[in-house]
Amino acid sequence: MSMNKKMLLIQGVGGLFLSVPVASAGMPANKEAGKDSEPNIIIILADDMGYGDIGCFGAIGYDTPNIDRLAASGMRFTDFYVCQSVSSASRAGLLTGCYSNRIGIGGFLVPASNIGINPDEVTLAEMLKGQGYTTAVFGKWHVGHRKPFLPLQQGFDEFCGLPYSHGQWAYGADSAAGRNPKFPPLYLMEGNDNVSEIATMKDQETLTTLFTERAVSFIHKNKRHPFFLYLAHPMPHVPLAVSDKFKGKSEQGLYGDVIMEIDWSVGQVLQALTDDGLLDNTLVIFTSDNGPWLIFGNHAGSAGALREGKLTTYEGGQRVPCIMSWPGHIKPGSICNEMASTIDVFPTVAHLVGAPLPDKKIDGVDIISLLEGVEDASPRKELLYYFQYADPVANLEAVRKGNWKLIFPHTATVVEGCKPGMNGRGGENIKKDVGYSLYDLRRDPGERYDVKDYYPEIVEELKELADSARKDLGDKLTGAPGENLRQPGRIVKKK
Ligand code: MG
Repeated sequence: MSMNKKMLLIQGVGGLFLSVPVASAGMPANKEAGKDSEPNIIIILADDMGYGDIGCFGAIGYDTPNIDRLAASGMRFTDFYVCQSVSSASRAGLLTGCYSNRIGIGGFLVPASNIGINPDEVTLAEMLKGQGYTTAVFGKWHVGHRKPFLPLQQGFDEFCGLPYSHGQWAYGADSAAGRNPKFPPLYLMEGNDNVSEIATMKDQETLTTLFTERAVSFIHKNKRHPFFLYLAHPMPHVPLAVSDKFKGKSEQGLYGDVIMEIDWSVGQVLQALTDDGLLDNTLVIFTSDNGPWLIFGNHAGSAGALREGKLTTYEGGQRVPCIMSWPGHIKPGSICNEMASTIDVFPTVAHLVGAPLPDKKIDGVDIISLLEGVEDASPRKELLYYFQYADPVANLEAVRKGNWKLIFPHTATVVEGCKPGMNGRGGENIKKDVGYSLYDLRRDPGERYDVKDYYPEIVEELKELADSARKDLGDKLTGAPGENLRQPGRIVKKK
């Protein structure tokens, strides 16, 4: 792969300049499709879809034939994680290859938020744009909705979507009633401009189809040029909405209907790739930004046999379904049981396209060996389970090494034993003090049987791992400030 890179100066916020790699001089401007060295990259990200919400991961009450077909054509990951079990943090990790607390993004950004991914960070889109890729994001952004942090300023050529969560619109309210007045109006954006207000649930119903159509036309438009497509569906996050073509189609109510439409969307993308002869030259990644939001009961998904869901560091929050397909490169129908994470996508894609890694430290590891099916490959040795709503310093609530997961004392917000929500209204949850606990995730993925008393040496080993993580990335639980935390981008209002 060509490593002959030039550097381009891009102006960041406040006049700062940052370096990003640009395409080597030898790369044709209008490369013929079908070449292996510059595969198209497609990431399809569902929102709050649980580990058990896809047919090939055990979903019941509806079928997901297209996502299952994607899995059959490539690799299904059983132990795939996001970096935090909440939207903005998770997306920031995917886009930068960093634990989100490293780059100062925690929890979910509310409409009043003035921060975003710092323009000094290199995003996946900037990295690929530097290699000559055309880039687009359709759907939910949610990593900074002030102008300097919007997609067009973060490496994307095209953006049509929502600047933040459509949950910051009707959360906890009766969806049928439309916008909750405590939130500002939500707009569909085109580039940097608001184009139309998402004013009613009818408007919400159009979104999955709209973003799918944009994705398909983007693929057709760029069939002779390497592209990066980030299709970030706002669904199945509440409030749920589905187009007429899927209403009442599943045996699992509106939630199942919404998943069926997302599955249809995957089918449309695969059909576009087939029509353009691009299937063999495109890496397609399908995953979710975090586990199911269980307080919403029948409007939430399922974490399968995993414990709890979104907003926790239990497996149901942070472990998500993931499929990667690249015919001719990834063995069809393969299953990967090794640990991997959305933060590994950045260095893996950088390797694939021959791009250098950013100068600043990132946390992802290159998982090409897993995609290639290399025997005994295990590039990700450990995983940190950080969680935080809004503070740049997050709580280190658990660590995993191999199959062992050690949970540290913390207060978790859980739904176990609580009354579930119904039809769009949230149910109950409780705060629970969790003590040290050690789980063997191979035998006990549901985290039911604490075995810390039987493996003191494993507990010590994992405590050491946590100590070094705290030194590097901080920990609010123990007061460790973290030596290598960076600042998010921030709009400072003039007094
Ligand atoms: Mg989410």
